[in-house]
Formats: sequence, C-alpha cells, structure tokens
Amino acid sequence: MQTAYINHPDCLRHDMGAHHPECPARLGAIEDQLIASGLLPYLQQHDAPLATFEQLARVHTPHYIESIQAAAPAQGLIYLDPDTAMGPHSLNAALRAAGAAVLATELVLEHKVENAFCAIRPPGHHAEPGKAMGFCIFNNVAVAAAHAMEKFGLRRVAIVDFDVHHGNGTEAMFRDDPRVMLCSTFQHPYYPYSGADSSNAHIINVPLPAGTDGTIFREKITERWLPALDDFQPEMLFVSAGFDGHREDDMAQFNLLEADYSWVTQQVKDIAGRHARKRIVSVLEGGYELHALGRSVLAHLKVLSGL
Ligand SMILES: [Zn+2]
Repeated sequence: MQTAYINHPDCLRHDMGAHHPECPARLGAIEDQLIASGLLPYLQQHDAPLATFEQLARVHTPHYIESIQAAAPAQGLIYLDPDTAMGPHSLNAALRAAGAAVLATELVLEHKVENAFCAIRPPGHHAEPGKAMGFCIFNNVAVAAAHAMEKFGLRRVAIVDFDVHHGNGTEAMFRDDPRVMLCSTFQHPYYPYSGADSSNAHIINVPLPAGTDGTIFREKITERWLPALDDFQPEMLFVSAGFDGHREDDMAQFNLLEADYSWVTQQVKDIAGRHARKRIVSVLEGGYELHALGRSVLAHLKVLSGL
C-alpha cells in the first residue's frame, strides 16, 4: 500500500514576516526535493481539509479555539507569543495543518494507505491546551492522536517526537492519559526548558546535551524508546517529525544527519510492523535550514514509503 502525502496551498499563505525562520519556503524546499528525487508521483497526494471545532476541542479548550478565531487580523500581524504571529491567512493555515493530520489518520485507519506524511505549517507540538507557543497554534499531532482514539476507538497510541525541542504542548495534553505513550528526544537545557523532570510510565522523555550526534541519538533511542514501545504495544504510531536537530540547522546544537532520520524512521516502522498493523501518521514540526530540511524529509519519506 501507498504512502499519503498531504498538504494545502493555504499552508504557504501563513507568513510571520521577513526573516522569520518558520517561513513558507520550508514547504517549497521539501517539495523541490521530492520532485527532484522522482518520489512525489509515487505518493498518494491529498489536499488537507479544515479541522473542525469538535476535532480541535478534543485537545484544546473551547475558549482557546474561539480566541484564535477572533484574533485573526484582517491585515498585518498580531502576536500570540513573542515568536508566534497570525496574519490574515494564518487561521486557515492552522486549520489546514490540523485537518491534514485528521485526514492522514482517517486514510490510514480506513486502510486507504499504509502510512501518511503531512507537509504542513504552522507546526504544532508546542501548542498547549489553552496557549499558542513557539511557532505553533494548534497541536496537529495531538489532534490526530485524539481523533484516532475518539472516532476510531483506539485504546493505545504512541507519539514519537524527534524534533530538537521538547514537545511541551503534546505532553501537557496527554500527561494524565495513559492511552498515549509519548517518546521524545530533545536538546536540554534549551527552549522550552521543560521535559527533563516530567517523565512517568507513559511519558518517555530523553533530554540530550548540545552536541548530540547520531551515535548518541541512536543509542538513547535504542535504550529508552524501543523497549518502552515494545512493552506498550501501540495500535498506531504518530510522529512529530522535526528536522531542526540537523547538523546544518542552527536553530539548535544537535549534529544529526539524513541517515539518522532514516534510521529513526525505520525503527518507528519496525515497531508499527510488530504492533500496529504498520499504521503511522507523521506530521512536520521544525526544520529551518531549507536544504537540510528538504533532504531530511526526503530521507524520512523514502523509508516510510519503502521506495
Ligand atoms: Zn523544533
């Protein structure tokens, strides 16, 4: 079965101003690599729908969703936090980003594809139940995981997050929900300065120092994530796929390479093959050095699709 590739032109229209690293060109850089490699025609391409209030409200407070709808400006930018702005097209981009993750979940659970990748922005894993943060408005991966549980009745799902930043929002949403195993690696101490002391039985946080390279990354994932995931036996896996830990990405100080992203994707695929009928939904998070981002997503998608 195929891999789905979900995006939407609205995600290109969210623009937080010149020089903001979370820029529309990120999606172009990804698509360029997929075209140049010849992979894109082999993926099942879909336009993302708009997420509904009900889908968002499984992880966000109704008050927060309404405040985001009301905040959208007719022109110019308004700031939700010092790093996160909304322009006239940002609300639709954020609704498409979460909607992509919902559609991906449905395509996989309805057996239309084996797995799916959402090439969307804004990213999501810093967005908390009632707060935008760190370039994120709605928590796309959390919306997807909640959809799998509430609409399809899944009882155990896992979210793996290899973005260089801790996914504080996702953790805030599922900290007290033992149906969700959250496995993450992140630079620490570093933005958002959380996660190092909040592990519990189903939250597998692996803080790693600046300078972490592929050898350390693979060792820690092998030691910490993989046995926990095998014990948990998730029925579906979700990926917060952030590529800002790449050596060429100066957003943070990890030294990962495309081969490390291929490796971690293969580990996720192996777990999904053993426990989850191969079901994986992967959602773009960070990755700001455009060339490295394009190459890293290509590496990730080659493993997901097996092509
Ligand atoms: Zn990040």
